[in-house]
Amino acid sequence: MTQRLVLASNNAGKLKEFSEILGPIGFALHAQGEFDVPEAEEPHATFVENALEKARHASRLTGLPALADDSGVCVNALGGAPGVWSARYAGEPKSDARNNERVIADLAEHADKSAYYYCVLVYVRHADDPQPVIADGRWNGEISATARGTGGFGYDPHFYLPQLGKCAAELSPAEKNALSHRGQALRALVEKLR
Ligand code: IMP
Repeated sequence: MTQRLVLASNNAGKLKEFSEILGPIGFALHAQGEFDVPEAEEPHATFVENALEKARHASRLTGLPALADDSGVCVNALGGAPGVWSARYAGEPKSDARNNERVIADLAEHADKSAYYYCVLVYVRHADDPQPVIADGRWNGEISATARGTGGFGYDPHFYLPQLGKCAAELSPAEKNALSHRGQALRALVEKLR
């Protein structure tokens, strides 16, 4: 039997990625916008709290099980910044170009350019689920001042993968999914849901 599941996001790319992996194990994913669910606040200083808040919000308003993610890029020389604040690192309105400029400027005086993407996924069976299913993923790389590639989004043109000699924006969606923080978290979640 197919289990309907609301995704606490309206990002079509995420809906597609998640459906490709969760569809074959019996979940039919719906974007929260299909139910007119407004975006939840993301006020917390931890990824897991923000993801839990988003999942509960979507589940409460739809009466369905919900899946939410929260992610960001963490730069080691910057003490883990921008981290949970990645989407708005350069302030409002949110802008990938200005966020990248700020990270590169902040790192200019630092020799250590290492960074990682981090993603947490939270699945709740209902809004008051006392046992949310939580999985995470981490993808190591470096921040490069030179932009490369046109794929992906966010920090991908500046997220350099030394083992591949490429930036994340140079990978195909399938290549990125096989390696990324989000892909890792999703595969870990599937193991737990099986
Ligand atoms: P969210 O979890 O979709 O809200 O993403 C938070 C922010 O982290 C995004 O707006 C991006 O700036 C950054 N981010 C998260 N995942 C990625 C990624 O796979 N590539 C590039 N940037 C990302």
